[in-house]
Parts: sequence; C-alpha cells; structure tokens
Amino acid sequence: MIKKKINVIFVASEVTPVAKVGGLGDVIGALPKELNKLDLDVRVIIPFYGLVDRKKYQPKLIKKNVAVNLPNKTELINVWQITSSESGLIVYLIEHELFNEKIIYSSQLKKMGQRFSRGSADISKFIFYCQAVMATLKAIEFKPDIFHLNDWHTCAIIELLKTSYAHDKFYQDAKTLLTIHNLASQGIFKLEILNNLLSIKEDNISNDQNINMLARGILGADKITTVSPTYAHEIMTKRYSAGLQSVLEQRRLDIQGIVNGIDINFYNPSSDNLIYKEYNKSSLENKIINKTALQTELNLTPDKNIAVVSFISRLVHQKGIELITETMVNSLNCQFVILGSGEKIYEDYLVELQKKYPKKLKLIIGFDEKLAHKIFAGADIFLVPSRFEPCGLTQLISMRYGTVPVVRQTGGLTDTVDKNVGFYFKYFNSRGLFGALSKALKIYYNDKDSWLKLQVNGMNKDFSWKKSATKYISLYKKLL
Ligand code: ADP
Repeated sequence: MIKKKINVIFVASEVTPVAKVGGLGDVIGALPKELNKLDLDVRVIIPFYGLVDRKKYQPKLIKKNVAVNLPNKTELINVWQITSSESGLIVYLIEHELFNEKIIYSSQLKKMGQRFSRGSADISKFIFYCQAVMATLKAIEFKPDIFHLNDWHTCAIIELLKTSYAHDKFYQDAKTLLTIHNLASQGIFKLEILNNLLSIKEDNISNDQNINMLARGILGADKITTVSPTYAHEIMTKRYSAGLQSVLEQRRLDIQGIVNGIDINFYNPSSDNLIYKEYNKSSLENKIINKTALQTELNLTPDKNIAVVSFISRLVHQKGIELITETMVNSLNCQFVILGSGEKIYEDYLVELQKKYPKKLKLIIGFDEKLAHKIFAGADIFLVPSRFEPCGLTQLISMRYGTVPVVRQTGGLTDTVDKNVGFYFKYFNSRGLFGALSKALKIYYNDKDSWLKLQVNGMNKDFSWKKSATKYISLYKKLL
C-alpha cells in the first residue's frame, strides 16, 4: 500500500522571491522546499499582489471565478499557480482587486506604521485572503492535513475552521500550526471592521471592542511555534511579550521554538550570480574584489584595508537603528554601508548621519535584493543591534558570506552567534554596540589569523533547513 503523504498548506503574506518584505518571505520560500524533499506534499498560498512580476514568474491561471462566501455577500476570485522550475514548489496566488496594489503591507505606503501593529489598515485585505484560501483549497481539491499558518495575517483561518467550516467534511480533520515570526505585529482592530468579512462567534463582544487577531490565533491554534528557542523563552516574559503575556501563558505547553535556517542555494557565495565575484572559504581573496567593487559602486573610497561595516534591515523600532550613533560613525575607523527602508523617523536620522559623514557612511534607502547580496559579499562586518529579534536571518546570511556579525544578545541572535563566529553585546544601548564593534575592529586590524578563523567558522556552519524541517515534521505528526 502506498503511504499517503502529509498534505500541508503554508498560508502566508510573503514568499521569497515572488513577494518579499523581510525574513517571513525567506522562511516561506525555503522551508516548504525542504519539507517536500522529506516526502511531504507542501504547497504555498499567497495573495496575488500587484507587485508580483508576471513576466518573470509566468503564473498560470488554474481556476476562474471561484466563489468566496462572506457573511453578507459573495465575491469572486481567480486562482493562479507558479511552479518553481528549480524546486517544483507550487505557489498559489489568489487574484482579487483587494490585492492589486503594488505593496504587501500598507505600512510600505505610509512608512510610519504603528509600533505594535504593522498592519492594522490591512485587516480587511488579509481577512478576506483567509476566506479566499478556504474557498480556493476546496475548489482545487487540495485537502490539507495541516494548515501551517504564519503571523496574524493568517489567523482568521483558525476562526473559520471553528465557525463557517466547522461542519465541513473537507476540513474536518485539518489541524492548525501557527508560527509566530514576529509578536510585535498583531492585527488589532475594532470588531465593526469585520462585519462583512467574518462572523466571530462570541456573543459578548461589542462592535467598538478591540479584536486582536494574533491573540485569538494563539489561543485557538492546535500548536504554536516561534522561530528560535530563545525567543520562545523570552516571549513568556513581560518585557518581550508585546502585551500578550497572559495569552501566551495559557498556551505555554503548546509553544515550541524552532530556529530558522536559510536557503543555502539562494545565499551561496560560491554560486551567487548577484555578487561581483564568486568565492568560497578557500578563495577569500575574491571576497576582497567584492569589497572594492562595492565601495566603488557606492562612491566610497575603494580601499581593501579599511573595514566595511554593513547593516541591511527594515528601518523600524525593533531593529535598534538608533544604536548606530554619530559618535560611532565619527570616531571608528571604518566605512558604514546601510541598506533599508521603513519608518520616516529612522530614514531621516540616517539621512542626517550620511550628510554629516558622507565619506564614512553610505545610505541606500529602498528594498534591493541584488544590492543586499553585494553587501553581504563585500562587507567585513554586519550589524544586528536589535531591540528584540525572533530569529533574524541577516546574521546567518552574513556568516555564510564570511562577513562577521556583531549582534545584540537577544532571541535568535543568542541562538546563532557565539564567540567562535562573531561578537555580541548584552544590554540594548549604544555603549554596548560601540564596545562590541570596537572589539571586532581591533581584531580585524590587528589579528588577521583570528579574523580569518571567525570568517571560516561562520562559513562552515550549517544553516540549511534540514534539521529544523525534521522538527516541524515531528510536530505535524504529533498533531495528526
Ligand atoms: P525581519 O524579518 O524582521 O525583517 P530578518 O533578519 O528575519 O528580519 O530578515 C530580513 C530579510 O530581508 C533578509 O533576507 C534581509 O536581507 C532582507 N532585507 C531587509 N531589508 C532589505 C532591503 N532594504 N533590501 C533588500 N533586502 C532586505
């Protein structure tokens, strides 16, 4: 008898490379591929955003006019499919006018999203998306054993399984696993917004009461994971729980931390065609070619002997941008390269720093995958001074490219950076970052052997998804 594969649908707002803003996209672009290699049938579903490059990804229309039944009306959607030529991964895209804008989150437009809810304006969009996912899977007859849900954008699925679809045979045995990539983004809104999109079952909620999508998801999911063991531990404390301590406490026994990997083929200095010159740990002289080419491209003085310190990030409260101070830029002997976009306050701060020190700091505001790879390859040091960090991928990517990370000891940064591969500081203040970066620079300039060791140790680390994928499979099996 042929054993039936476990069917898993990854429901998410991003998937790299089709639609990405940050690390969530990278995870959804990589983990399902790894799970498929381990003999599961895993597919991904996302909204068909206006920013998806149709020419590049060649989506095929597979179902037209699928009806999505909302409480008071019916909407029609089209379902498209992209099949990765390299991995065979299937990504479904849901087409509806709600997704037509060339953005994923409205904060990309406003550039000053609120601290604890990156997407409160996106509520209708993502709740409709969840409704559409339920209709789509039935229409294409992909019956999931597991809904692998990601962040608040997908939590309405849990709601739907308990209400509109509670007696639907198709979904009767489906289980839910919710992965929290970032607790700070919760999807909080007034119930009245929901009226036309979702019926919530409780009787004691009034229309002007706040609904917290992520909190409801945490309470309702069959199991919960977050993206590193230390973050799983930290979020149980008041400081890191983003207001959800009591909710998380109720699910303490069902929460597990599984550290993220990266797509080691997409991020591979020995075959990366986005960088200036490929290299590996035995040809690190070619990394220097990447460095001087980067300096030249960015109008910094090309000099292989000066340390290039980099930072690639969403420019938001979480990421500790203010720890990169004027004193640091002024007094340390290095060049800073910063790529990012986000909240205006941080963009303005960095613009000012660049104005004051144009020879020492180059800022590129925007999202640029190609430039990001060039920076990972060309820099010597990579900063991750986060206030909190669920996992963090940039420190992993930088180590893969022989670029030594300097990180704050928090969340996934604690789990992935030790003294054999990088530098860290404990308390969230500029003195901490200054001290750790100074120490790194001292070794960079004065102890080439130790520096090389740090680089090679980082490059030797296994950041593939293999180990973590097997942990997810064990969890799926526990659920079934
Ligand atoms: P988060 O998910 O909180 O944004 P992560 O470190 O988990 O942070 O992942 C960030 C991902 O997004 C990395 O792949 C990083 O290289 C990428 N990234 C962030 N900002 C930019 C940018 N401005 N341009 C290109 N890539 C970016």
